[in-house]
Amino acid sequence: MSSLTQTLQQGLRRLLGSRPAASAYRLFDLVLHQRIELSPSFVRMVFKAPEVAQMTTRAPDQRVKLFFPGPDGSLPRLPDSQHWKTALEALPVARRPVMRTYTIRALRREAHEVDVDFVMHGVNGPASTWATHAQVGDRLQMLAPHLAHEGQLGGYEWKPPAGVRSVLLAGDETALPAIAGILESLAHDAAELNVEAFIEVPLDADCIALQHSPATRVHWLPRDVLRCAHGQGLLHAVSELASLPQGHAAPGMRLKEVDIEKRILWEQASSTGSAFYAWVAGESATVMAIRRHLIKERGLQRECLTLMGYWRAGRSLG
Ligand SMILES: Cc1cc2nc3c(=O)[nH]c(=O)nc-3n(C[C@H](O)[C@H](O)[C@H](O)COP(=O)(O)OP(=O)(O)OC[C@H]3O[C@@H](n4cnc5c(N)ncnc54)[C@H](O)[C@@H]3O)c2cc1C
Repeated sequence: MSSLTQTLQQGLRRLLGSRPAASAYRLFDLVLHQRIELSPSFVRMVFKAPEVAQMTTRAPDQRVKLFFPGPDGSLPRLPDSQHWKTALEALPVARRPVMRTYTIRALRREAHEVDVDFVMHGVNGPASTWATHAQVGDRLQMLAPHLAHEGQLGGYEWKPPAGVRSVLLAGDETALPAIAGILESLAHDAAELNVEAFIEVPLDADCIALQHSPATRVHWLPRDVLRCAHGQGLLHAVSELASLPQGHAAPGMRLKEVDIEKRILWEQASSTGSAFYAWVAGESATVMAIRRHLIKERGLQRECLTLMGYWRAGRSLG
């Protein structure tokens, strides 16, 4: 939209006394309020700002975009408007703030606080470098759902079909914040819902206490104990240990592969009446291998599988 059109629209709104419809997402200027070491590989960043009162989430795997300060410490200063993307693209590439995707672990609107759990994977990416050095008082921007928006929001994939009886959750450390939230949201559900979670983490000491229903089976897969490379424990556990429905295995079938070097693996379940639902997220090659196993080897319907590549080993998703 040109600035002339925007000015005209604003003038018209003033004349007519109407308020612009609230955008689905808006930018929040946040201050790091508290830094909580959850385990050797996880730090919970508690952000606080009065405007968090205007934030919302629609699901426990609600994703948000974080905009980080530049290497010189310059703060991301995108305007608070629904045209943040245009504003971002208008900046010279060198001045665009680095953006990464994270999960809202908890939102306490009344306290003006929002939590994000960071995996501390070293100083090899802008986000984890920021998390390594971040101190109380540091600032960043978050693009997050806007409470005032009345329509659809999107930005989450946890959508178990009505009538689901059995849920499989599988993920690595980047998916732990979402899985922890999903388990919490199911903690008081009827015992008939069969929930099984497989979570691969770097260290035994990362197997933190989670809130879940007594019937839920949580299987931790710490790589230091299992002595395996990233993803191997998760693939093995889903293949060998998970309670899966009986499918029609078709080892010879031609399964269209997703080229994870070119695009992000992101497939949503679409089945509305399925009794089984799987939510799988983590490193893309691992999720691809799980996808292959579930569909080809176990004959599960793709429609009941939500499969998400949250990151790609050896590649920056920036
Ligand atoms: C929907 C969604 C939700 C997410 N939620 C969370 C969350 O709540 N918490 C969280 O910590 N992450 C989460 N992630 C993953 C996070 O976005 C990526 O890990 C991201 O790449 C981190 O950015 P970076 O700047 O640190 O590294 P990048 O610049 O992207 O990558 C630099 C290097 O680090 C490697 N790398 C990236 N992530 C990891 C990792 N976890 N372990 C080891 N090596 C890695 C890359 O392969 C690359 O070699 C989520 C991703 C998605 C898509």
